[in-house]
Amino acid sequence: MSDCLFCKIIAGEIPSNKVYEDAVCYAFYDIDPQAPTHFLVVPKTHIASVSQVTEENSQDVGHIFAVIARLAKELGLESYRVVSNIGEQAGQSVPHLHFHVLSGRDMTWPPG
Ligand code: AMP
Ligand code: ZN
Repeated sequence: MSDCLFCKIIAGEIPSNKVYEDAVCYAFYDIDPQAPTHFLVVPKTHIASVSQVTEENSQDVGHIFAVIARLAKELGLESYRVVSNIGEQAGQSVPHLHFHVLSGRDMTWPPG
């Protein structure tokens, strides 16, 4: 999608601090980290949010979770939180599906 921030990051039109990339997904550090480790994992295909996940594109989402598990191991994260906000009220500010991976500090529940 031409006017999507994360599509532009994936295309290299906007710089990012890359963690990992393959044919399906792109991972990069969040520009405004909310924990000592905070990166985002996004599908290369534009999907607006979890609300747009279907049987057809769910393979990419499954792959992303396998990537998250592998990256967490490689980065030595013993405990971490994976978050995806859907819609404005839940705090979604970029309408391209992304999973936050946060680690390195105590976290509370329920989230604010
Ligand atoms: P959300 O608010 O759940 O939609 O998450 C969007 C995230 O993208 C926020 O945590 C932002 O800090 C992050 N973000 C926005 N612009 C950039 C950027 N250019 N590079 C890296 N992360 C970004
Ligand atoms: Zn996009």
